[in-house]
Amino acid sequence: MVSTSKKTLTRVSHLPELIGQTVEVNGWVANKRSSGKVAFIELRDGSGYVQCIAEIQAMGEEKFAICKSLTLESSIKIKGTVVPNEKQLGGVELQLNDISVYQIAEEYPIAKKAHGVDFLMNKRHLWLRSRKQWAVLRVRNQLMYAIHNFFQERGFAQLDAPLLTGNACEGTTTLFETEFYKEDSVAYLSQSGQLYAEATAMAHGLVYNFGPTFRAERSVTPRHLSEFWMIEPEMAFYDLDMDMDLIEEFVKYIVNNVYENCKVELSILERDLSLFENINEAFPRITYEEACKIITGEKDIDGKNAITLFEQDLAEVQAKVAETTAAIAETEKELTTPGLKKGKRNYFQSKLDKLKVDLKKYQASAEEIPQWIASAKSFPPGEDFGSPHERAITRVFNVPVMVYKWPKDIKAFYMKRWEDDPNYVKGVDLLAPEGFGEIVGGSERETDLQALIDGINHHNLPMAEFEWYLDLRRYGSVPHSGFGLGFERAVMWLTGVQHIRETIPFPRYYGRLFP
Ligand code: ATP
Ligand code: MN
Repeated sequence: MVSTSKKTLTRVSHLPELIGQTVEVNGWVANKRSSGKVAFIELRDGSGYVQCIAEIQAMGEEKFAICKSLTLESSIKIKGTVVPNEKQLGGVELQLNDISVYQIAEEYPIAKKAHGVDFLMNKRHLWLRSRKQWAVLRVRNQLMYAIHNFFQERGFAQLDAPLLTGNACEGTTTLFETEFYKEDSVAYLSQSGQLYAEATAMAHGLVYNFGPTFRAERSVTPRHLSEFWMIEPEMAFYDLDMDMDLIEEFVKYIVNNVYENCKVELSILERDLSLFENINEAFPRITYEEACKIITGEKDIDGKNAITLFEQDLAEVQAKVAETTAAIAETEKELTTPGLKKGKRNYFQSKLDKLKVDLKKYQASAEEIPQWIASAKSFPPGEDFGSPHERAITRVFNVPVMVYKWPKDIKAFYMKRWEDDPNYVKGVDLLAPEGFGEIVGGSERETDLQALIDGINHHNLPMAEFEWYLDLRRYGSVPHSGFGLGFERAVMWLTGVQHIRETIPFPRYYGRLFP
């Protein structure tokens, strides 16, 4: 008789529901320690981590010897019983009965000791397996799912823009150029799908674009990639207020969704959870002009002054520098104690390493904060915000803040002018707290044909290539709005990682094209 049972894979993430059962799990050795009669194998299978306990009594000598011989990242299949253990991440562990080996891994290049980022980036194809990197990319995946759900549940159609384009949407300075069949024909890698989203919105009403975009950003910053993903909804018949309402509803939804579904990942990342606890408060909406006054310290919010808070932060961090320096001296002294036992020595050494990492962090802050203060105090209204200015604005709030009504000159040509104040446009940026900065940029779009033509000329953009876009104002033009969320910026913010290169599997940025 032919068997009708399907072959299924039991994954680590299923184990909490299988307490008491004997299961087979495939995976890799993330960690191992062993003594005479017992070995602890930390198994990872991509869905999570589980501690496996191998005892010579339960397994027999031969299989136990295999457990002891495992190297880091060896690939194995184990059989064991799921037992509860509150101390473990998923609340369970495995008592092993059996093991077989797919491959004993060669000496793994990524050891536990701290490696430089360059080394890790060169080994990105392996670094992806590390606990923290795994957690970040799991959050990325959840966020992507949540974003699609949010828009699909609300009747938005995903209609992606082309990646090869003939025109430059956000100015010409950061364009990647490539040949388009004939040598004399140039194509640019898309910097934004927005103009195309406006066209599809006139066909489908509510649309979104969710794909890669490219910017040849030569400056090396912790928040710029050359290739990053953007989510760009575009809504017919939405004005700026409706746009801001949607941004707020959207950001709350995705943050709550990640909080509910990524508990293990956030705990691995040691993410400060106050972000998730505060997120359901109303997002303040302030004009660019008010924001300028917060930056320079002219305006308080609920008795909070950005400059004063920076000064307090500086005093705090300076105290921490002193404290940590003293603790380092203390620990170094302990290490020189004659006849120190191995266990004690290891304890003090790892304490020392950790203190030194902390000290570097505090010293960096102690150097940075005075620069933020200087830069904030001398901010010239009319300019775009840099990182210190965004930090100043967000410092006085607990939740993301929307800055709207921007000076026309520093925003894109397609933003609608403010009716009774034509030097301003109906743009909005959403700034995330804790220094993560601008994560959303949006606007109500200009509908006046002549104003757009003037804008294109003013920015020296090639008119012929925008003719199709101008058609949208010639045939059934309607008020409409949209925004763009920088996907990796959002991943950075939610995971709390300090560099955007860790938020995408294989990052591309100035100086990095491999692996
Ligand atoms: P910034 O001032 O931070 O360089 P921008 O104003 O040039 O950003 P927009 O053109 O408004 O950015 O793009 C929309 C969103 O895309 C931004 O809010 C940001 O979240 C994200 N973003 C922009 N440039 C990059 C980049 N090089 N790498 C990753 N994300 C980016
Ligand atoms: Mn922007």
